[in-house]
Amino acid sequence: MTAPVIVWFRNDLRLSDNPALLEACKADKPVLALYILDESLGGAAKWWVHQSLNALGDALRDKGCQLVLRRGDAAKVLDSVIDEAGADTVYWNRLYDKAARDRDAKIKRRLKDRGLTVDSFNGAMMREPWEVLTKQGTPYGVFTPMWRMFWSLGDPSIPQAAPDKIRSAESITKSITKSIRSDSLSDWALQPTKPDWSGGLQDAWTPGEAGAQARIREFLDQDGPQHYVEERNRPDKHGTSRMSPHLRFGEVSPRQLWHWARETEDHKAPSDGLRTYLQELVWREFSYQLVFNHDRLQTAPLKSAFLDFPWENDPEGLEAWQRGKTGYPVVDAGMRELYATGWMHNRVRMIVGSFLIKHLMLPWQLGERWFWDTLVDADIASNSASWQWVAGCGADAAPFFRIFNPVLQGEKFDPNGDYVRKWVPELAGLPKRFIQKPWEAKGDVLRQAGVHLGDTYPQPIVDHGMARQRALDAFQHIKRGAA
Ligand code: FAD
Repeated sequence: MTAPVIVWFRNDLRLSDNPALLEACKADKPVLALYILDESLGGAAKWWVHQSLNALGDALRDKGCQLVLRRGDAAKVLDSVIDEAGADTVYWNRLYDKAARDRDAKIKRRLKDRGLTVDSFNGAMMREPWEVLTKQGTPYGVFTPMWRMFWSLGDPSIPQAAPDKIRSAESITKSITKSIRSDSLSDWALQPTKPDWSGGLQDAWTPGEAGAQARIREFLDQDGPQHYVEERNRPDKHGTSRMSPHLRFGEVSPRQLWHWARETEDHKAPSDGLRTYLQELVWREFSYQLVFNHDRLQTAPLKSAFLDFPWENDPEGLEAWQRGKTGYPVVDAGMRELYATGWMHNRVRMIVGSFLIKHLMLPWQLGERWFWDTLVDADIASNSASWQWVAGCGADAAPFFRIFNPVLQGEKFDPNGDYVRKWVPELAGLPKRFIQKPWEAKGDVLRQAGVHLGDTYPQPIVDHGMARQRALDAFQHIKRGAA
């Protein structure tokens, strides 16, 4: 039998525009699709990956190929699958954080030493971190010049279609059933059971390549990019694409999103809306540049003065934030949307992030961890970079002293209170005027709305004015320390 090529699937759970898979299909060899469980996933991401692997398994089967599932140390798993299958080639698409890069480089070296052909490809980025550099050849630390450079390089390469058939897959399928063991997905127990909290996730999402394509089609058909400038900051509307978990697991590639969005306009210069949407895709690339160039992006502030920040220790505040019980409606709505659906609107992510860090003065890493566990799109680059951005300690970060007022943010971006009414139903009866600040409503207004502050809904756990001043004072402390 011809020695097969192993395609090691990771964050690229799709058939189209998948360079490692396409390269494998070019060779006149059977293809063996392998997925090794990423044990670092948070709870919501585990739920996602279970569904996504089901979808990938079905799509591969339709092309005549079986997906082999394994868990354990990646190097050891690869060794044994190579031996079992008699494979002589291994392909994968690249990851960019240090731990993954170090592991992959080691594996590549070892397998090459054993005489195998090993190659890796770009399946996750429009342009790789080392391709978009300043004139001095250094990585960008600020987004806008990076975007300008990115744009000046022209459209990224054209995405490729899925292979029609995965060549000689039938022959390997026969031998796989004899010799290559696959774990059963259900044995991995990635789905929550006791309790099963995944109902809201199931209602909100269709993981997998087909689900990703259906969702982006809907966004584009409704002229999402063209309305993006006005709608993208409104959590009460469906103004963004909601592609982040699909991108996170590589069910769609950013090149595909870029080109499909570009095809919605026939002129070369994009409308403001389309340009802003494309810029968001480049924010993702910016985050990947950061994780590529900063080994400890997930845990250590890029601005080292923040190492001395006088954080509070407030487990009760943290729990109130996590559970959506801070007494600030827009914050609570966001945290409950997150818990129910595994996703939160970007504007609200900024508001709840600012609240945790600046109102409660809790370390941003606690927020990063909670998001890691609860987001279906939890992504090592975008999550860490965004938390550092909110905390004011990251690259091109919002300055620390810019402290969001959660009431004003709510009034501006959820002007009718619909978002709050949806996620904080105990406030639904309040008139628009008080929906973002129930504590200002008179007793009869609250009574009529069925709201009993401190009982059906909490009083604010912290006073905005006091919290703001405390955060600014703390910031002075590190500014002095850094001087
Ligand atoms: P759209 O507005 O439709 O944008 C299209 C795509 O561009 C997104 O799917 C996403 O891949 C990318 N994108 C958009 N905004 C950003 C951004 N600010 N930074 C990086 N990429 C962006 N995004 C994640 O994918 N994973 C995370 O773990 C994550 N954690 C975050 C934590 C905080 C505190 C904040 C403030 C933001 C975080 N983001 C994260 C970025 C952003 O909130 C989400 O990407 C966005 O809300 C996804 O919604 P969408 O797909 O509808 O975005």
